[in-house]
Amino acid sequence: MKCKRCRRAGAAVELPSHHAAFCPDCFFVFFRRQVTEGIRKLRLLAPEDRVLVCVSGGKDSLVLWDVLIDEGYETEGLYIDLGIDGYSDRSKEKVVAYASSRGKTPIVVELAKEGIPIPEAARCVRMQECSICGTVKRYFFNRVAAEGKFTVVATGHNLDDETARLLGNLLHWQRGHLARQHPLLPGEEGGLVRKVKPLWRVSEVETAAYGFLKGIDYVNEECPMSEDATSLVYKEALSRIEDRMPGTRIVFYQGFLDPSNPLRKGPEAAAADAARGAEDDAGEGVGAPQACAACGAPTYTETCSFCRLKERVRNARSLRAARGSR
Ligand code: SF4
Repeated sequence: MKCKRCRRAGAAVELPSHHAAFCPDCFFVFFRRQVTEGIRKLRLLAPEDRVLVCVSGGKDSLVLWDVLIDEGYETEGLYIDLGIDGYSDRSKEKVVAYASSRGKTPIVVELAKEGIPIPEAARCVRMQECSICGTVKRYFFNRVAAEGKFTVVATGHNLDDETARLLGNLLHWQRGHLARQHPLLPGEEGGLVRKVKPLWRVSEVETAAYGFLKGIDYVNEECPMSEDATSLVYKEALSRIEDRMPGTRIVFYQGFLDPSNPLRKGPEAAAADAARGAEDDAGEGVGAPQACAACGAPTYTETCSFCRLKERVRNARSLRAARGSR
């Protein structure tokens, strides 16, 4: 099959949802256009932004970093070492190798050094690893961005991630989450940095193809803690629908983002809600953000959810140590 764009080279990527097939060079053009169009449509980034790209070592975040560098944005990468045996080391290697291929050194936060490695913290407080991980990552995304004077934090969530989240929110009628789900979460005075998801228009398959054809070496394995993640069930369901009816995912998500959709309030309203006292993206607190009494980070409660979590882990460790010494 010939490339539908240049009509000369053989097609390397077939995209039924776009009724298209591309050779590698034309696919790069297509993919980057999808990303830049997604950024432009929702005004996610401005040329003068300093972007902190959160990189996990997986394909999505490294591809995002690659596209943003090529598009001329000023970027740095942030890697959070979750302290997961083997997996975290392998992921870090990929991030460091990619960064060095682009003449960069990533910012690395090691949760073991911060006293809160995810698997041990989850055991201590008897919580799901993923919910602890979410709280901890959000905290460091914001803290590193604020300390480094970045204007925006970018994550590699793609169309599959966003539609899986949307389906989950719909199935459980999470009206608050539905109202605020959006690729742009505006920043707020008091130190909450703007967060964006520039890959919202591209699918996981398209991102993987871009990474592969560009020769980006990413970690192939899934995080070992993801086995029970419900988002995988929603992704699987949507993949079956997409296989039978190509293009359904993007129609589903774009329809949801339509400003006339009564379920969605839009980023500005979401920010106003947060200021008035609704739950924020981290699912915490009321009122306008104030400084955490323990660490000074912006929070809607007296102490931030990260400090409260750390305190619980510390207490559980002390209790164990006391029991062990008896
Ligand atoms: Fe964190 Fe869970 Fe994702 Fe692993 S699967 S990176 S623990 S949120």
